[in-house]
Amino acid sequence: MITIRNLHKRFDDREVLRGIDLHVEAGSTVVIIGPSGSGKTTLLRCINLLETPTSGTITLGEHTISFDENQTVKKDVVIALRKQTGMVFQNYHLFPHMTALENVMEGQVTVLKRSKEFAREKALQLLDKVGLKDRADMYPHQLSGGQQQRVGIARAMAMDPAVLLFDEPTSALDPELVGEVLKVMKELAREGMTMVVVTHEMNFAREVADQVVFVDQGVIVEQGTPEQIFLHSNNERTLQFLNKLK
Ligand code: ATP
Repeated sequence: MITIRNLHKRFDDREVLRGIDLHVEAGSTVVIIGPSGSGKTTLLRCINLLETPTSGTITLGEHTISFDENQTVKKDVVIALRKQTGMVFQNYHLFPHMTALENVMEGQVTVLKRSKEFAREKALQLLDKVGLKDRADMYPHQLSGGQQQRVGIARAMAMDPAVLLFDEPTSALDPELVGEVLKVMKELAREGMTMVVVTHEMNFAREVADQVVFVDQGVIVEQGTPEQIFLHSNNERTLQFLNKLK
C-alpha cells in the first residue's frame, strides 16, 4: 500500500528525517512511537505532502514519487497523492463556522465533486458510525474534544482514502475523552482500514498495531510486532524510551 524509501527531510540546515524506509501493508495498522522531536509528525506529513521531502521516494498505490530538492513536485501529483490519504489532526482542524454534518460533507462536494444529496447521506452514515448522528447539526464549539475528533475521523473517512493518517489524535484531549476516540480507531482497524498512527498511547499500540515503528533522531531504530517491540526488544535506545514511560 505505502512504500517509503530512503526518505530525507531537512528544514534549513537541520535534517529531521535521515533515511526512512517503511512499508505499510494494505489493511494493516502501523503505529509510530518515539521521543518528542524525533520526526514522527514530519514523517506523517511527508506521506501526504503537507511537507515536501528533501529526497527519497514514496509509493502510494499506483503512484510513485521521487523527491529531489532541486525540483518542485507537480501539482497534479500532489493532488493524486492527497486524494488517497485522509489525515486526522491533533487539534481536529474542523471548520468552526460549519456544523458537524457540513464539515463531513465539505471535501466530498468541493474536492470530489459529489452531489450534496450523496455527500449528506454519506456524512450521516459516517457520523452514525462514530456515534454522533444526533450531533450532526451542532457546531464544533458545541461539541467536546472527543466528539470533535470523532467528526474529524468521519471527515477523513468521507473522502474514501486508501490510507488514514493519524497525527497524535488524542494528545489534545482530556484523559476521560481519549477512550471514545481510540474505540472508533480500533473499530476501523478491525474492519481492515489501512492506518498509520503517530501516538503516545502505548496501550493502543500494544492492542491494535500490526507493526510498531520506533523512531528516534530521524531514523527508524526498530520495527516489529507489538510483542517484539514491547516484550522482546534488545535495542538499547528502544528500551531506554520504553523504560522512561513506565
Ligand atoms: P512530538 O512527539 O513532540 O510531536 P515529533 O517526533 O512528531 O515530536 P516532529 O514534529 O516531526 O517531531 O519534529 C521534528 C523536528 O523537526 C523538531 O525539532 C521540530 O522542531 C522540527 N520541525 C518540524 N516542523 C518544522 C518546520 N516546519 N520548520 C522547522 N523545523 C521543523
